Amino acid sequence: MNVQIAVLPGDGIGPEVTTEALRVLAAIARKFGHTFDCVSLPMGGNAIDSHGTPLPDETLAVCRKSAAILLGAVGGPKWDDPNAKTRPEAGLLKIRKELGLFANLRPIAPSPHLIGASPLKPEIVSGTDILFVRELTGGLYFGESGRRPHPSGEEAYSTMTYNTHEVERVVRIAAEAARKRRKKLTMVDKANVLEASRLWRSVSANLVKKEFPDLQYDVVLVDSMAMHLISRPRDFDVVVTENMFGDILTDEGSMITGSMGLLPSASLGTPGPGLYEPIHGSAPDIAGKGIANPLATILALAMLLRHSLELETEAALIEKAVDKVLADGWRTKDIAAGGPSIGTVEMGQKVLDALAT
Ligand code: NAD
Repeated sequence: MNVQIAVLPGDGIGPEVTTEALRVLAAIARKFGHTFDCVSLPMGGNAIDSHGTPLPDETLAVCRKSAAILLGAVGGPKWDDPNAKTRPEAGLLKIRKELGLFANLRPIAPSPHLIGASPLKPEIVSGTDILFVRELTGGLYFGESGRRPHPSGEEAYSTMTYNTHEVERVVRIAAEAARKRRKKLTMVDKANVLEASRLWRSVSANLVKKEFPDLQYDVVLVDSMAMHLISRPRDFDVVVTENMFGDILTDEGSMITGSMGLLPSASLGTPGPGLYEPIHGSAPDIAGKGIANPLATILALAMLLRHSLELETEAALIEKAVDKVLADGWRTKDIAAGGPSIGTVEMGQKVLDALAT
């Protein structure tokens, strides 16, 4: 295989964890005889500094032409001024919208070697294996918003808008994933209050009935889901939901594994390149210290190989290597529970060593 991969290291720990993922990619290329042409591009705060915009046109153009995109993380206190003309996160929203990345896949399956890292009881988290599918280009984050004068000062509004097509395409991706897993699909909404949720409920039910009658399908209100997720997470297989509910529930779900440093995500559209990244941010509090956990980005790379390049063997090999490193007891500080730990580069090296065995 000979393909181009766009790499957006970003800000803070982004470049540190991306470097380790690229070392793993180089090892996979050598082992399997592939050529991955990795093009590193500015995006986020660094791009605001160098180009005056978080997503320069050239970055977007190269991303469009690439087979897949690997992103570190963007943002940091330097660009946090609420009065700034633009912010790093605007680049993230724009790349999702421009590339039509409407489905965000986040697997949440705690490593059996790290059950103790979760703040939840081991008997609750062990055996959890959820795939969240979050709608990514619609809803409140993209709807009409603004401010207007109000007798008390100002009034602000954000609107949640969805159409049939937007709901169908993301529910279809979730249902297809469920078919390859335990055949259970849960749709999360707030249909007792929101009109947009009532559309989700009817469109989703019709689609599943027509195209996926083999699935066990149910619906759960988002407030109930917030409770079920930490009281009985094992009961869920694939969970599909709209943008903001997914944003909140997936961060809550990350605590089932105990560390943001372990969770990858994939943002997919059709057709075109998918974007793969760790779920964590740029962690400015630890940037430059060499202690960031690179495993989420390495696991995001495995998702990239699986979903965009159809290299299942290579993806599974990386996941097995990460599992071996954790089984052997190697920990970065965030998952060491106060015990001994190794740094970012050493953790990357442990994965490389495990790949070589
Ligand atoms: P964060 O995820 O960066 O950090 C939260 C906590 O988790 C911090 O204590 C951090 O040290 C720790 N952490 C995160 N990743 C880690 C890793 N790989 N290894 C070890 N520890 C890790 O969230 P935040 O502090 O709320 O946000 C920091 C910046 O990142 C903000 O500017 C925010 O806007 C941005 N952000 C970017 C993305 C993205 O690029 N997709 C996502 C979330 C936040």
